[in-house]
Amino acid sequence: MSASSSPRVAMESIIAKPRSGWAVQPNLLDYDQTYSTFSWEAERKRLTGLPGGAGVNIAYEAVTRHAAGAAGQRIALRWLGKSGQTRDITYAELDRLSNRFANVLRSLGVGRGERVFTLAGRLPEQHIVALGTLKNGSVFCPLFSAFGPEPIRQRLARGDGRVLVTTAALYRKVAGIRDELPELQHVLVIGADGAPVTAPDSLDFQNALDAADDAFDIVATAEDDMALLHFTSGTTGMPKGAAHVHAAVLMHYLTGYYALDFHPEDVFWCTADPGWVTGTSYGIIAPLTHGITTVIDEAEFDAERWHRILQDERVSIWYTAPTAIRMLMKLGEDVARGYDLRALRFIASVGEPLNPEAVIWGQRAYGLPIHDNWWQTETGGIMIANFPAMDIRPGSMGKPLPGIQAGILRRLDSGAVEQVSEPDVVGELALRPGWPSMFRAYLHEPERYAKCFAGGWYLTGDLARCDADGYYWFVGRADDLIKSAGHLIGPFEVESALMEHPAVAEAGVIGKPDPVAGEVVKAFVALKDTFEPTDELQRDLLGFARKRLGPAVAPREIQIVASLPRTRSGKIMRRLLKARELGLPEGDLSTLESPLS
Ligand code: ATP
Ligand code: MG
Repeated sequence: MSASSSPRVAMESIIAKPRSGWAVQPNLLDYDQTYSTFSWEAERKRLTGLPGGAGVNIAYEAVTRHAAGAAGQRIALRWLGKSGQTRDITYAELDRLSNRFANVLRSLGVGRGERVFTLAGRLPEQHIVALGTLKNGSVFCPLFSAFGPEPIRQRLARGDGRVLVTTAALYRKVAGIRDELPELQHVLVIGADGAPVTAPDSLDFQNALDAADDAFDIVATAEDDMALLHFTSGTTGMPKGAAHVHAAVLMHYLTGYYALDFHPEDVFWCTADPGWVTGTSYGIIAPLTHGITTVIDEAEFDAERWHRILQDERVSIWYTAPTAIRMLMKLGEDVARGYDLRALRFIASVGEPLNPEAVIWGQRAYGLPIHDNWWQTETGGIMIANFPAMDIRPGSMGKPLPGIQAGILRRLDSGAVEQVSEPDVVGELALRPGWPSMFRAYLHEPERYAKCFAGGWYLTGDLARCDADGYYWFVGRADDLIKSAGHLIGPFEVESALMEHPAVAEAGVIGKPDPVAGEVVKAFVALKDTFEPTDELQRDLLGFARKRLGPAVAPREIQIVASLPRTRSGKIMRRLLKARELGLPEGDLSTLESPLS
């Protein structure tokens, strides 16, 4: 398979990084050398392991090993409430509170491998529950708090949820489905502002915690014991439940070190909700394994609030998503003017392709480029990244993490796969299995899991190409590739080109069946606030895209819409654009955020 058009990044658009003179020297200075000398054996020494060699447990590496020493008094979590409240929790306190929650689980008879779900939003209780659950050898499964009753029921049922921790406000969504969940034995409710919980057949979370003991001997979990269950975002279909094990903590630590560049004094803010894998791997675990401070903001996106947080909390590393960056871009380059963001030294993004325009915009708005990185629920941690000391090619996801072997595969007619050795050929992005945070199952779907592997590779379902210098470029989801008049077109390059037009805030591109060409490219675009949808603008957009992409790749049709349908984690749902365009069934919409208008 080869793409007809591979946009080459112009040399002048490369963002060169200094070779020396850093205020904070990046952990990864020489990519090639670190990559070629990497050894899992050596890196494993960064973990402490359970006392007496009893095994490995994520919670031990995240809090307990810091709690007793000098780091115990460090602030682990700084929680910022919606209404202006704040709460600081030190490592020692987080260790104690999570011990208490582990004791609560034990007293309820919840054991190893049993699933503890949360539906609680961005609260420090998420951390307490996650760590307590892991200490107890049980499995943590966070749900996105904006889910309606049906997606909640479906995930609890599929994940065999035994315990659910939720809030008084969110309990309302659970009350009506409890009868349908015989496996769900215990519901603990976090009361609003200390008010007692009155939900029937439920326990008050705070009372239970208050009554529990401070001391807990962490269950001796082994590397391969299941620790986390994460449902995928549902961008391409019915969400899958990806199971992860305690060994994953090494990857959480290492990616924090190499890709996010954690240093002991850092204040880190991951804006993702704990209901998605990013919110757990990086919102909870990775920063704690480094003993640094994590900021948690309870509120929803608001540009002014976000900049105030960056300023007031002196955030040094900010990990966010293209959807947030696009919303900030809509507000213009001056969006951060007037805030003192001198503490900020590194910005990273994940979840969707980051258009070159956005990478460069970061430099104009913050004086820092935005570092794209790529991974999936299945990989458990960052796999491909733009590292602080590596030159950026805007639009590229970067290079594989040390220890990670990536490749581009082509599928042969026989069904076998073959690695592509030439540069810039589009194929399926694949990874050599064996990294510690690789998913170990799709829960209850062994066949689907088995189908992800071929020829000694894990196939990611994404299409990409690798250039001659080893940078990876995202092309699209394998399902989203457009075949038009013999050309293979990745939606991302068309969307990126449209994003360069001054009127375009976001774009989603699909293939539309066509009797002559097979498929033609159709684009949906949402405009920036200051632009009106006129026929003239539409013509201008078509002309702009043609000039930028050439007639073979440019969209044949452009439809201006008020907004694009997105998953709740912010990803554009191209499958839904397509289904609606073609009048086909819309499929699973449990993660849909905003309807197409
Ligand atoms: P589902 O598997 O249920 O369809 P999903 O794939 O969106 O949903 P996630 O695991 O949350 O669920 O997302 C991972 C996917 O997001 C990747 O496979 C890729 O398609 C996309 N993605 C993540 N980061 C990037 C990135 N930096 N560039 C391009 N795409 C990205
Ligand atoms: Mg996926």
